[in-house]
Amino acid sequence: MKNDQTPRLDYDAFFASRIEELHTEGRYRVFADLARQAGNYPTAGHYDDAGERQEDVTVWCSNDYLSMGQHPAVLDAMREAISTFGAGAGGTRNISGTSHPIVQLENELADLHGKDAALVFTSGYISNDATLSTIASLLPDCHVYSDELNHASMIQGIRHSGAKKFIFKHNDPADLERLLREADPSVPKLVAFESVYSMDGDIAPIAEICDVAELYGAMTYLDEVHAVGLYGPRGGGIAEREGLMDRLTIIEGTLAKAYGVMGGYIAASRALVDVVRSYAPGFIFTTALPPAVATAALASVRHLKESTDERTRHQERSAMAKRVLTAAGLPVMSSNSHIVPVFVGDATKCKAASDLLMSRHGIYIQPINYPTVPRGEERLRITPNPVHDDAMMARLAAALRDVWAELELPLNG
Ligand SMILES: *Cc1c(COP(=O)(O)O)cnc(C)c1O
Repeated sequence: MKNDQTPRLDYDAFFASRIEELHTEGRYRVFADLARQAGNYPTAGHYDDAGERQEDVTVWCSNDYLSMGQHPAVLDAMREAISTFGAGAGGTRNISGTSHPIVQLENELADLHGKDAALVFTSGYISNDATLSTIASLLPDCHVYSDELNHASMIQGIRHSGAKKFIFKHNDPADLERLLREADPSVPKLVAFESVYSMDGDIAPIAEICDVAELYGAMTYLDEVHAVGLYGPRGGGIAEREGLMDRLTIIEGTLAKAYGVMGGYIAASRALVDVVRSYAPGFIFTTALPPAVATAALASVRHLKESTDERTRHQERSAMAKRVLTAAGLPVMSSNSHIVPVFVGDATKCKAASDLLMSRHGIYIQPINYPTVPRGEERLRITPNPVHDDAMMARLAAALRDVWAELELPLNG
């Protein structure tokens, strides 16, 4: 044994060099240390790197799209559930962790999407990874057709399945058809896509994609993470709004964005849900959501099934933000959803813009850089909320104008 002769990698130096690359490219991620204030959204406390409390900031990039994470009905339900059930779940779903609120939540979600059954996971990420990997690996020689802009969690799930993957052009049913036409008609097929793409704010042609999938006997998997709670008469998402829920094999959503809590889910046929429940390691071998979290999510889903005020006001605020920022000459990217992306096109400037908004204007908008968006398409992603009033929008526009001037970024008109 001549271990001392073996050249050794300095592990920490290696890791540090990988981090240095991120700094060089201007896309090293710095997390804002925030203290949300229940009942006071969009205001949040802010701590600097040294842990010193700074001036409060106005948050403009949260995915708690409707402030349901602070809704009295949700907070009351969660508090009461903690008193009733305690803090944790106490086990995996199989071993003592199936609390009654999770069962109720799954029934509520199945009903929301008009499906036989639903299954709750610890996050939307896990629901995509666990479901896609399980289904596509169980089906013999399954071919998966994936939109080129699909979320990382779907990409991981498809990769983990080991199935053959084909990427179709973003929101392009004709390109999907081209790929399906070339495939062996006898193999099982799955088409995976999203409804609202959250970085551009565009919406998939769901009916056309379903037409093509049906023609070639493919199952459909729709990620409605950025649409559930926000679209459709009961918050069932874009597929509900367009009357298409029954055409989708699997609808996937999160309880952490518009519903303001935590957790993910799928809704589908009884057999499909049962197979994921029975075979998916990401579902089986992890502790269940705590009962108070399930109860809070349930309260939020139920509230948004009945109440349309939040959805109406959300769309109105989003349209207003687009108008105000466009009128200020800012490069608002076209979006037919609630998302308001503002184009920067440079990683370092995108980070600098975010830093200036925070330090000079008390406005918090996280920069969106590669790999969340392609290089050269860096942007500020703004998410107006029912609680953002006109005065806040005017301040936002003025602050962005100031930052654009400081960084010599181009304006329109
Ligand atoms: C955020 C997101 C997820 C993951 O959901 P979480 O509940 O946050 O884990 C899945 N898909 C898309 C498109 C997302 O943006």
